[in-house]
Amino acid sequence: NKCKASHKGFVVYDKTLNTHSIQRLNLMSELRSAIETSQLSLYYQPKLDLETNQIVSVECLVRWIHPEHGFIGPDDFIPLAEQTGAIRDLTKWAIQTALSQHKSWTEQGNFFRVAINISALDLIDLSLPAYVAQQLSELSLDTTAITLEVTESAIMSEPDQAIRALDILKRMGIKLSIDDFGTGYSSMAQLKIMPVSELKIDKSFVLDLATNEDDATIVKSIADLAHNLDMTIVAEGVEDKDSLEKLKEYNVEQAQGYFIAKPMPADDFNEWYSNSNYRPR
Ligand code: C2E
Ligand code: MG
Ligand code: MG
Ligand code: MG
Repeated sequence: NKCKASHKGFVVYDKTLNTHSIQRLNLMSELRSAIETSQLSLYYQPKLDLETNQIVSVECLVRWIHPEHGFIGPDDFIPLAEQTGAIRDLTKWAIQTALSQHKSWTEQGNFFRVAINISALDLIDLSLPAYVAQQLSELSLDTTAITLEVTESAIMSEPDQAIRALDILKRMGIKLSIDDFGTGYSSMAQLKIMPVSELKIDKSFVLDLATNEDDATIVKSIADLAHNLDMTIVAEGVEDKDSLEKLKEYNVEQAQGYFIAKPMPADDFNEWYSNSNYRPR
């Protein structure tokens, strides 16, 4: 499924990206300058609070609009960025871009916490906590502006080190979320000491929630587990109304998915939000 449709409607078939290693090498070397020449952009996908039916937070997802290859999704270049170390600059760019977007939303009277995805390598980047603090203070924002999402598998690649790094961020007051939960093999012992306040259930358990009983059992069990550990739950990959209703039944706090909205450029997001029912009245 390498056929990527951009929000603006053009489609690029970019199968070659994964199959041709020469092209991969080119992309690797181009990625650094892509950050500098603003070929990267953030798309925004809302997280819906299921109790109040309002948008409380927005996840920021990077896209690369390449001058020749067109639209490239993160699954095709984040791994490259991790291999080359360019991820460190990419993450900092994403944090800065997301926080200034948060600031302009706030100035328009909408408070959306921005959720930014970080990689395993960012957790061992000792300059990251100070960078976050500096960006917040430059924009006169506090830590309620931001959530950092890190995948369960990124944490599990070096669990002790990751937990130490997450502890530092948590002590700064940064809200942390485990992404793609259920696919990364953390033990109950590790989960218990994980300094995070939110679990995001991987979309593979959510996509067929309404029709697949095993998925329903898994989602309900993860929600119970998280609640018993004083964590909140977000379900990603909600594509239909029946799944959304099930999530409410399981006391899942937040939902995200195409049923609510796809990730969109900021302008489209603003237009979508102003026409949506998920606003205070
Ligand atoms: P993720 O953080 O788990 O994000 C969820 C992915 O699921 C996104 O794919 C989103 O577009 C997609 N999605 C959302 N709702 C639905 C739905 O209802 N159905 C389906 N089938 N999919 C849905 P995307 O944007 O392609 O991002 C893929 C992954 O790339 C992200 O997974 C995240 O791990 C990574 N990523 C994205 N942006 C960044 C970034 O700035 N930095 C880093 N380190 N990773 C990023
Ligand atoms: Mg995420
Ligand atoms: Mg996820
Ligand atoms: Mg994912």
